[in-house]
Amino acid sequence: MFTELERVSPFLFSLLENSPDYVTMISPEGIIRFTNRTHPRFAMIGLIGDSVFSYLAPESHEVARACFRRVVETGEPGFFEALVRVGSDVRRYHTRVGPVQSGGRVVALTLISSDVTERVEMAQRLREQRDTLEFAAAATGLGLWHLDVRTRELVWDDEMIRIHGRGVAPRDYTAVLDWVHPEDRARVDANVRDSLTTGTFQDLEYRVVRPDGGVVWVFARGKALRGEDGQVTRLLGGVLDISERRRSEEALRASEERYRTSIAALEEGIVLQSRDGTIHTCNASAERLLGLTRDQMLGRTSLDPRWRAVHEDGAPFPGHTHPSYTTLMSGEPRSGVIMGVHKPEGQLTWISINSRPLYLAGSQQPSAVVTSFFDITARKHAEAENERLLRVERAARRRAVLLAETSKLLAASLDVFASLEEVVRRLVPEAADLAVVKLLDEHGAFGPEHAVAIATGDADLEASYLELARRRGDDRGELLALVRHGEVRFTVVQIDGETPVLPGVPKGEHLAERLRHRSSVLVPLTARAEQLGVLVLGGRTRAFDADDLALAEELALRIAQSLDVARLYRDMQTALHKRDEFIAVASHELRTPLTPLMLQLGRLEQLCRGRSELATAVAAPKLHTIVRQTERLHRLIEELLDVSQITGGRFHLEPEALDLAALVRETIDGFAERLERAGCPVRLDMPARLEGRWDRTRLEQIVSNLLANAMKYGAGKPIDISLAAQPDCVLLSVRDRGIGISLKDQARVFQRFERAVSGRHYGGFGLGLWVTRHVAEAMGGSVTVESAPDVGSTFRVRLPRQAPTAAAQLAPPPP
Ligand code: ADP
Repeated sequence: MFTELERVSPFLFSLLENSPDYVTMISPEGIIRFTNRTHPRFAMIGLIGDSVFSYLAPESHEVARACFRRVVETGEPGFFEALVRVGSDVRRYHTRVGPVQSGGRVVALTLISSDVTERVEMAQRLREQRDTLEFAAAATGLGLWHLDVRTRELVWDDEMIRIHGRGVAPRDYTAVLDWVHPEDRARVDANVRDSLTTGTFQDLEYRVVRPDGGVVWVFARGKALRGEDGQVTRLLGGVLDISERRRSEEALRASEERYRTSIAALEEGIVLQSRDGTIHTCNASAERLLGLTRDQMLGRTSLDPRWRAVHEDGAPFPGHTHPSYTTLMSGEPRSGVIMGVHKPEGQLTWISINSRPLYLAGSQQPSAVVTSFFDITARKHAEAENERLLRVERAARRRAVLLAETSKLLAASLDVFASLEEVVRRLVPEAADLAVVKLLDEHGAFGPEHAVAIATGDADLEASYLELARRRGDDRGELLALVRHGEVRFTVVQIDGETPVLPGVPKGEHLAERLRHRSSVLVPLTARAEQLGVLVLGGRTRAFDADDLALAEELALRIAQSLDVARLYRDMQTALHKRDEFIAVASHELRTPLTPLMLQLGRLEQLCRGRSELATAVAAPKLHTIVRQTERLHRLIEELLDVSQITGGRFHLEPEALDLAALVRETIDGFAERLERAGCPVRLDMPARLEGRWDRTRLEQIVSNLLANAMKYGAGKPIDISLAAQPDCVLLSVRDRGIGISLKDQARVFQRFERAVSGRHYGGFGLGLWVTRHVAEAMGGSVTVESAPDVGSTFRVRLPRQAPTAAAQLAPPPP
């Protein structure tokens, strides 16, 4: 049978030749007997007689063998899947195995093997795709739909229903459109219709409205599938809820918009530099502040030499130390770095810079740096101006202090020259490195005796200068000429120029070299148009300015004024001395003829008395007048003599025991006639006796002076005189009701030649009260006044009972 079969097999197999499957007959052991086709690689002749196992991949041997065995044993068909290696190609075959029986036993097997490689792979892929899709749909919330164009059947999955907020899927496509937001409906419909004709479903974002009114943004992507006739038969696709994304996109857009507009509108300049330091972007303020256009800036790095940046002190600010660069290198932010940037036209702008690093996720190195900066030029200018003003103010204050101290030193003593030595010392080094004052001598020259005060901070140099001044004496050169013309000379040479020799120092002198100064100012000392000398200030290395010149002029003025004051004081002292000498001589000379004159007059008066009637009637009154006037003359001369005695230090007391009450009475008696003529009655209030030790003549002088004044200024009104005893002193008071003395004159009237009335109405030297005060004080007492204009005056004298010792009497006279 088998042989028969073998005979017909080729015929049968030739019939099968066109089958897409391999049809093979094998022995139960697997030896190939026939096959309908050959693989291009194998020759038919080669195949037949081979074991089928030599074509199966080893891993498929087992399954094939088991199948063969089963078919042989049971006689039932079976199948297996096996891998077949054809060269490097591995293909999968599904093989149906049929028994060929003969005599109740299986003598051969037919194998029909179809290549299922693609199908299996496809199925696998499809499975995978479905899994992925399901996973993706579940994970991303993708809703899936599909529409059969012909049947109009619409299928939605659960996610679609959920996205639309519905309980069930829509009936049909029209219902779907109803759920689309009215504004988007036309767009969605057009897209669907277009896809039916074009076969392309455009990606689409639109809104759907849920039954509760909520609006959901969805993203739809679809595909049109064509049937065999080329018509679109199905549409399928997915819909994703993108509300969240839309919201965040919206928010992002808004914040980006805000960010962009605010960055653009920022007053601050913003520059972004990438990792390599190049400028990536900048805002308008950065362009304005740096004076560069965006295009000029982009691509530049910090290291670009064109920045020409400077530090606050003017030192260059190299690129590798710029805050952006160091932040980029180190990752360290920087704040408040001040930088001066030259704009292309050269203008310097001051900016304050902050730099912050930017990192990409996971990166250790900054991937960029943002630099923000703002213009502080105005602030810098204001600061600079403030600093300048502060400097000016400080300098002014220092100058004021210096001037005040100079004035104090000058006023401290009338020995101006001694003060000048201190003054020049005070000026060095604060105001100058050298200060010299030279005073003209009485011949108006810098003669050998002219006074010089110098300070240089170097004692040796000062000594040499003084020695030179003495040795050279009169300088007939430039210094004297300057002083004579009252010219101020101000010299400052350039820092690298040759420093001139100080004027007034002969060039040949060895000293001249040591007195070279970069700056110098010479100011003549002028008082009331008269030249007194010169002030010279020198700055060794510093450059004097207008302030130094002003200071020198002010100093010169003050020095000249105090020299002038001292000179005036000296002149005044001389004049006063001469006047006192004159008064002493004049009063002495005047008294000499007066004494015998008064004596002769007294005798003449006596002779007249009781003689002829004619003599009594005619000569006596005339004689009386002559005597009175002569007495008055005598008193005046005595007063002058007192002055010269007191000022000449020839004044002394001769105390003796006496009764003051009696002395007062006697003095008043001596005034009786004059008091009567003045119409001033005197009221007395005093004890009968009041004893002590005093100088009689001087005490009489006090009482007479006060009584004479009370009578003279008493306006013809009563005078009260009182005398009172205290335990250790006596009090004498003389009160009138006359013109009085204003408060401001009350202290003055006790001074020499001081009067509170005009000489035209009241005669007198203004010496009485001065003498009274001097005498009272010499006796250890005092005199005071209490007075009011037109009310009257009360003079009070307080005297100790004992005249003081000789030492106290020698006290210097009051002015
Ligand atoms: P004199 O009377 O010669 O001017 P005194 O030294 O005695 O000089 O007085 C100084 C000045 O004091 C007077 O010029 C006068 O202005 C004022 N004075 C002195 N005594 C009186 C007095 N009793 N009443 C008003 N003025 C007086």
